[in-house]
Amino acid sequence: MHNLADKPDFDALTDQWDRDHLWHPYTSTTNPLPTYIVDSASGVRLRLTDGRELIDGMSSWWCMIHGYNSQRLNEAATRQLARMSHVMFGGLTHAPAIELGKMLLEKAPAAMNNIFYADSGSVATEVGMKMAIQAAVARHGSHRRTNFATIRSGYHGDTWNAMSVCDPVTGMHSAFGSSLPIRYFAPQPRSRFGGEWDPADIAPMEEIIREHHEELAGVILEPVVQGAGGMWFYHPRYLQELRKLCDAYGLYLIFDEIATGFWRTGRFFACEHAGVTPDIMLIGKGLTAGYLTMSAVITTGEVATTISNGEAGVMMHGPTFMANPLACAIAAESLRMLDEQPMAERIAHIEAQLREYLAPAADFANVADVRVLGAIGVVEMKEPVNLADFQRRCVERGIWVRPFGRNVYVMPPYIISDEDLRYLTSNMLDIIRPEA
Ligand SMILES: *Cc1c(COP(=O)(O)O)cnc(C)c1O
Repeated sequence: MHNLADKPDFDALTDQWDRDHLWHPYTSTTNPLPTYIVDSASGVRLRLTDGRELIDGMSSWWCMIHGYNSQRLNEAATRQLARMSHVMFGGLTHAPAIELGKMLLEKAPAAMNNIFYADSGSVATEVGMKMAIQAAVARHGSHRRTNFATIRSGYHGDTWNAMSVCDPVTGMHSAFGSSLPIRYFAPQPRSRFGGEWDPADIAPMEEIIREHHEELAGVILEPVVQGAGGMWFYHPRYLQELRKLCDAYGLYLIFDEIATGFWRTGRFFACEHAGVTPDIMLIGKGLTAGYLTMSAVITTGEVATTISNGEAGVMMHGPTFMANPLACAIAAESLRMLDEQPMAERIAHIEAQLREYLAPAADFANVADVRVLGAIGVVEMKEPVNLADFQRRCVERGIWVRPFGRNVYVMPPYIISDEDLRYLTSNMLDIIRPEA
């Protein structure tokens, strides 16, 4: 095959081919949004084929926590490649899976005892929901215990059941209609993180659980930070109240920590803000520091035992690439890198800077709200952002920020320097600043 990169008109050619043939996330093939061709990346910088460099404020959708092209992660990958990149997990096991598992259980809340490795965040959601159903049916001896409650503005992935618990209005429900199972939705908690707790927040969820617990397997939600469904930070007390309700009615509590895990909110897991242990916890995104797709479902011993004592006697799931050794080895190295740094202080430092740098936006006439938690900074606009135009202006200024709806936000790799973070945020504010 000839090397496209040697052609002088490489960018124009490949861009047109890409537009004609490749789907991108949530885009049209007939009227696609612009794309930019990345040649390489290192640290917090994406390098485009035309030589321009962009400071990445997205961590490639939350996952590149140590930045790009990390020497240590590259070396861990290379070492594991020389042993085996993959082996089936049915009937076989390996050191990377065991080592990673031990490290994850050390980080997870104390009662959590068993791990199921899955392929992506969405698949972890599917597996977690399947586990809750298998365990609930076994626990209560009732085949009616198969539905779920959740809160509005959540995001749990793009596969079937994951979609069913995403926000029913801003999510993907209308396109798929009656093919999606119907869930119970409570309003989004309005008590802010760091603000006053309003006990009225939990009342609608309490009512759903009281009325429908006999058909519920569990409750699924993102703890403290709702990500792609609205970038909202709510009061941890909500989770404490929800835990009590789940215990009272025998429901399994599923925390989706796929976006929040691995220090993003200032704690290793966001559930630590509430001091609440879920029955089932989903992790993904930052797990392999963005190197490979992998996720995991961590459960309490009770969930694992109940499933194993149930009708099927086994957990009914087993993906081809389960516990991929290459991904496990990289994830274990990433966890070691996190352990070797004072991460609480590191994230607190990023948080303080984000607060300072984003504060001026609160006075912009077109801004509805500014909020910061851990290494997440959000500027909520009053009107939806024109994505193509916004991204063109980002690239002109050498930054990479991808808003959705009314939310313009950053969640940079943790290695970002003070100088780069200031450049990233000040240029982002320049783009959204209303013309005087
Ligand atoms: C991204 C995300 C998912 C889905 O993960 P994929 O790897 O994209 O399938 C699920 N839940 C949350 C909270 C997420 O942020």
